[in-house]
This record gives sequence, C-alpha cells and structure tokens, in this order.
Amino acid sequence: MKPLILVVEDEPPIQKLLAYNLGAAGFEVASAYDGEEAIIMLDERTPDLVLLDWMLPQLSGLELCRRLRRRQATAHVPIIMLTARGEEPDRLRGLDTGADDFITKPFSPAELIARIRAVLRRVRPAFAEEVLEFHDLRMDLAAHRIFRGDQEVHLSPTEFRLLRHFMENPGRVFSRGQLLDRVWGSDLDIELRTVDATIRRLRRAINADNRPDLLRTVRAEGYSLDKAAANGAEPSAMDETEEARGS
Ligand code: CA
Repeated sequence: MKPLILVVEDEPPIQKLLAYNLGAAGFEVASAYDGEEAIIMLDERTPDLVLLDWMLPQLSGLELCRRLRRRQATAHVPIIMLTARGEEPDRLRGLDTGADDFITKPFSPAELIARIRAVLRRVRPAFAEEVLEFHDLRMDLAAHRIFRGDQEVHLSPTEFRLLRHFMENPGRVFSRGQLLDRVWGSDLDIELRTVDATIRRLRRAINADNRPDLLRTVRAEGYSLDKAAANGAEPSAMDETEEARGS
C-alpha cells in the first residue's frame, strides 16, 4: 500500500510540483490549500505524513501543527514543515511545534523525498526503503552492500552507519557532535577527531578511482553529503589542508 501524504500549501504551483514529485516517488497525495480544508480531510482519512507549509492564510502552519498534535487521531502523524528562507529551522525547532522535521524553500524534490522517507522510516519501519540512492551511490540495506556506479564499495560497520546517515539526510550539514550522537551513540566516550578520521576513510572508500567527492566539508560547521561537492564547488585541496590541520 502506498503511504498517503497530505500536502497543506496555499500556493498552487508548489502544490502541483509536490503532487507530481511525490506521485512519481510512489506516494499517494492529498492536497489541501488551507488549514480548515486540511482538518476536514484529516477527519476523513488519517495520512501517513503531513507536509505542512509554515505560511498559510488564516490558520497558520504553526497553529495547525499544534492542533494536529492535540487531536487524538493525528497526535502521532509525522509532520514535516516547509519554511521560507530566513525562518531558520534551528529557531523553529525551539518553538516546540511538534514537527518532526523542517525543510527550507526552495528545496530540491530529491532532498524532500529523502527527508520524507527518513521520517517515515523512523516512525513506521514498515515503510522502510530497501535501497537508498544518492547521485551514483547506491546502498542496499537488506544485503548490506554499497555501490558507486557499478563498483562495489567496502566499508567498516561504522563507516556504513555514517554513510547511511548521510544518505538518509542528503544535503544537510551535520556537526561532528551531531554525527557522534547519531552514528556512534551519545553515551560513548569518543573524541570528535574520531569523526574526522572516519570521514577521511569513508571519503577514500567512496571516492576510489578519482570519482568526484560527494562529501562536503563545511568550514567550522561540519560535513554533508552534497552533489555540489562533486561539481567541484569546493576544491578538494582545501579539504585536504583542513584535514591535515585537524589530524
Ligand atoms: Ca504558503
């Protein structure tokens, strides 16, 4: 059965774009153009996930999000909020909205779909995708195998978990502390330098044969899996210098 996504967004072009891309990715889509309409639709059928625009006429996305959390039938439905640039997700997270994730407009459909899948996987393992894909990277979760193009990549269990985390959250920058938390587990006594060392090994493994680097080093921020990295937006020489300094 296809997961049902309720899209609450007042701008028709964005609704259309989302409906097209979500449909192509194998989701069933219901569209509501404001909060009132969303509530009527939610009474008819509970979706598997709500994609909710922050800026809506009348009932705001924030208020709708809070209402959904208060209603028994929708209290546990995952919600991803769409926000405009400038409404920093970090600040929004602090508002206790109850949203599971935030995506900033403009977003790439591929990133949005990956984030939806990550949220669904977290709350409903039954929807788990067997295969994660990014650029020419392919991770088969069932078989525990990774391919770059048609070349198999061999990783240690930690490198595998690290890459999986990046592939589930493409384009997102994670600090070394966040990576330690999410990949190694927060209660382990591990140094941040371990993250750099593992990233270095992961890079070497997936970039073998001089393939474009898909891991971006964001100075003073952290790391992300990013196609821009492969386009040469960030010269790898700088990464090497940074890594040399860190080790
Ligand atoms: Ca809007």
